[in-house]
Order: sequence, then structure tokens, then C-alpha cells
Amino acid sequence: MIEIKDLHKSYKTGASSLHVLKGINFSVKEGELVSIMGSSGSGKSTLLNILGMLDEADEGTYTLDNFPIKNLNEKVAAKYRNKFLGFIFQSFNLINYKSALDNVALPLYYQGVGRKERMDKSFAYLEKVGLADWANHLPNELSGGQKQRVAIARALASEPKVLLADEPTGALDTKTSYEVMDLIQGINDEGKTILVVTHEDDIAHMTKRIVNLKDGLIIDDSYVNQVRAIENV
Ligand code: ATP
Ligand code: MG
Repeated sequence: MIEIKDLHKSYKTGASSLHVLKGINFSVKEGELVSIMGSSGSGKSTLLNILGMLDEADEGTYTLDNFPIKNLNEKVAAKYRNKFLGFIFQSFNLINYKSALDNVALPLYYQGVGRKERMDKSFAYLEKVGLADWANHLPNELSGGQKQRVAIARALASEPKVLLADEPTGALDTKTSYEVMDLIQGINDEGKTILVVTHEDDIAHMTKRIVNLKDGLIIDDSYVNQVRAIENV
């Protein structure tokens, strides 16, 4: 599903340049649930942003579902991003003046899906994350865990092949974090490929494989015994 080879990325600020990714190689097969760990500044978000086509590497190759991601114009990139990728962020990134339902429906609106289908589908995804009763509420009427569920429903609505989550539990208390990980595990059980950036060891052990980044390189990449989040809720 994902294949990256010898990926390098530097940030240039003024005259100086910071070499953040120094030759990353890894691949993810369809249906995997992988966490990316590493200390602050190790390049986790940089890597995830490149995988999410929100940024481009300076060197190396990236193929997504056998399609080379390189020098795409913004229109083609947006099309692929919409078709292949769903995003989940630490701070939820919901639109405050739109209801939970309308937040979920937004990506479908941008894809040109008609109103009726858009609303039906969005409601079904809200139901899937356990928030059918909250469809008409605004984000500020929801708890952190509920907001993240809305964000997950929104990410699923466009039926992406891969979900990319950057610290999805970073703003949540422990119990709520495990509830969100239980949902993520359930979505993975249904076959979705999911990458989770986290710096929390217990969250990483709820995935099936842990990739450890240090100073811009992968220092460890291991399959682990997946801890079921529900056991900790
Ligand atoms: P955290 O756990 O704190 O989120 P991270 O592993 O996600 O950290 P990155 O955000 O990938 O780390 O950042 C890696 C390095 O690149 C850091 O030193 C950061 O300051 C720098 N960096 C990130 N984005 C930019 C940018 N747009 N311009 C310049 N430097 C950047
Ligand atoms: Mg980060």
C-alpha cells in the first residue's frame, strides 16, 4: 500500500538547513495498523505529512497504492489525497460553527457528492463511531473524545484506503485515549490500513507494529503483540 525508499527531508530557514529525515525506508501493507514513535523533534509529523501528500520529500521515492507520488500538480495531488487518505489530528480540527454531521459531510461536499447521499453517508459514519444522538450538536458541546470520534467519522466518510493519525490521543485523558484506540482497532479489524503517530508507549502497543524514529532514521521496526484497548477502558 505504502512504499518509501531512502527518503530525505530538510527544512531551510534563512541561511541554515535542518536535515530532519535522513534516509527512511519502510513499507506498509494493506490492513496493517502501525505506530510511529520517537521523541519530540525526531521527524514523526514530517514523515506523516509526506505520506499524507501535505509535503514533499527532497530525495527518495514514495509510492501509494502503486502510484508514484512525485511532482504532482496541486489538482492531481488533491484528487489522490481525497481518494486515498484520511487524516486525524491531535486537536481534532473540526469547524466550530458546523454541526457534527456537517463536519463529517464536508469532505463529501468537496468531492461533489449530492446532498442526500452526503447526509445519509455522514449520519451512517456518525452512527458507526457511536454519535448518532449528537449529529446536530456543535463541536463545543462535545467532549474531547466525542470530538475525536467526529473527526474519525469525517476521515472515514470519503472511504480512504489509508488513515493517517498524528497523535490522535494526545489531547485526551487515559481512559478516553483507550476508547479512541478501541475504535481505531475496530476500524483496522475491518481491514483499513492505519498509521498512528504517538509518543506514548501504551498507545503504540495497541497497534500491531511499532516503528521507532530517532534523529531522522528508523532505529527499530518490530511487530508486537497487540494489546486490545477495550481491556484497559
Ligand atoms: P513532536 O513529537 O514534538 O510532534 P515530531 O517528531 O513530530 O515532534 P517534526 O514536527 O517532524 O517532529 O519536526 C522535526 C524537526 O523539524 C523539528 O526540529 C522541527 O522544529 C523541525 N520542523 C518541523 N516543521 C518545520 C518547518 N515547517 N520549518 C522548519 N522546521 C521545521
Ligand atoms: Mg509531531
